[in-house]
Amino acid sequence: MQKTVALVAHDHKKPELIRWALEHKAELEKHALVATGTTGGLLQEALNLPVKRFKSGPLGGDQQIGALIAEGKLDSLIFFWDPLNPAPHDPDVKALLRLCSVWNLPVACNTSTADMLITSPLFIEGLYERAMPEF
Ligand code: PGA
Repeated sequence: MQKTVALVAHDHKKPELIRWALEHKAELEKHALVATGTTGGLLQEALNLPVKRFKSGPLGGDQQIGALIAEGKLDSLIFFWDPLNPAPHDPDVKALLRLCSVWNLPVACNTSTADMLITSPLFIEGLYERAMPEF
């Protein structure tokens, strides 16, 4: 079952995300991939797969991905945000993480969690039905 997976990495985390994505290319290529601008360009080149690219994160890309979540159009987010360097768009980063909690969206913020998410039978076999909160 094809899902829409968003991938976002802050600058210092981009090499880690690219390594992770290459390792999991066989699973990722089954899904529709979306990403913030720069991350998406790097992923497209490294994976040789189509990636729908939104604006760069600081220019609104995080918010565009947040909009997908709010519209129920995203199934999971791999978000390697940088805990050691300040980001000009920190409010957007918080907003994106907040929407993941609001909508009970599976989100992985580091490689270990991302490894577990992408290899989970619940994810791979599409067996998991995410509870959608009612507001
Ligand atoms: P980028 O954005 O992929 O365009 O670098 C990521 C981010 O900073 O949120």
